[in-house]
Amino acid sequence: MNVQEIVKRCQALFEDLEFNAVQQWKAAVPGRKAIGYMPIYVPREIVHAAGMLPVGIFGGGDQMEVIQGDAYYQSYICRIPRSTIELGLTGKLNCLDGMLFPSICDVIRNLSGMWQIMFKDKYVKYFDLPQNYDDATGGEFYVHEMQTVRDDLAKLGGREITDDDLRRSIAVYNDNRKAVRELYAYRAQKPWQAPTSEVYLVLRAGCVLPPEEHTALVRSYVRETDAVKRPVRDNARVVLTGSFCEQPPLGLIKSIEMAGCYVVDDDFQLCQSMLLDDVPTTGDPLEELSKAFLHRSAQTSSKYDETKAEKGTHLLRQVKTRGAEGVIFAAASFCDPALLERPMLLEILGKHKIPYTAFKYAENTGQMAPIREQTGTFADSIKLWSAA
Ligand code: SF4
Repeated sequence: MNVQEIVKRCQALFEDLEFNAVQQWKAAVPGRKAIGYMPIYVPREIVHAAGMLPVGIFGGGDQMEVIQGDAYYQSYICRIPRSTIELGLTGKLNCLDGMLFPSICDVIRNLSGMWQIMFKDKYVKYFDLPQNYDDATGGEFYVHEMQTVRDDLAKLGGREITDDDLRRSIAVYNDNRKAVRELYAYRAQKPWQAPTSEVYLVLRAGCVLPPEEHTALVRSYVRETDAVKRPVRDNARVVLTGSFCEQPPLGLIKSIEMAGCYVVDDDFQLCQSMLLDDVPTTGDPLEELSKAFLHRSAQTSSKYDETKAEKGTHLLRQVKTRGAEGVIFAAASFCDPALLERPMLLEILGKHKIPYTAFKYAENTGQMAPIREQTGTFADSIKLWSAA
């Protein structure tokens, strides 16, 4: 496939709210099972080691009209739980045999309880990630939490999940994370060759494809896009942050780029890049997954920072290593984790004299003009300051 064909395929997967790719994967071998997971992060290795397909669920986006889902929630919360409920109630998630709800925020925790009541025939687990990073405390808790999922999925799948199964799956996801890191590095180096509106679709494909297939897709995208030279623009290089859960509509990402910004780093699909380096494939696999999360994972708003000095260090590193000239805070409306952390991050950027702008969106935001004007003005101001 050439680059247009790759992007077209990824866009089709992104728009398919019937999850046909998952249905086809299951139909290929009778008895296969698929397990959904919500943002931000779950150790997909355990699902994969059970012979099941992990499926990333990011709500209904801007293609789905939420009718029943609104009745389940008050008006002053974000949209992703409503559209996820809508996906469930309209049967679009029937292909899933279970759901994992990681501990991002109260909204997702409550959604996990509702899911247990509404979909009694499915496996549902609220997956509590540790907020203490001592191996003997948070680590032990986290290993226990992973072991529970391992036991549950072994029961669901009717077979034991061995340590070697887990090690093989860790190796598969190490390779996937490596490919994603390569894609991010390529985009930072040549953002005109890998627009974020395309990179986003390539990464979203990883929500529904088996990891082995997704890894090959990511690498073929980098290879194919590099083969077709595209015009270089005098855009401002920015890090986009705060979009780790409810995703902005694709049109919003395109608007930011059309307004004169190259997004050189982001936190859209954190599950694929949360662990910052390889997980060892020797030793106890759950302990190694635990250590990777506790000590070598990306900072994000739903993770506790043990000291004030740590706050914002990941964002500052993104700015520095990607050669960014500014930061765009783009968070879902009513997203408590992102919006409560924002003032602290703004203060840190201010201290480091890094320009920033901030706005909110919903996954079905339709009015792009104000955001385009705001980011366009931001990009222009960066260029003026750079030239000064
Ligand atoms: S968008 Fe924010 S508040 Fe809403 S579910 Fe996600 S993390 Fe929670």
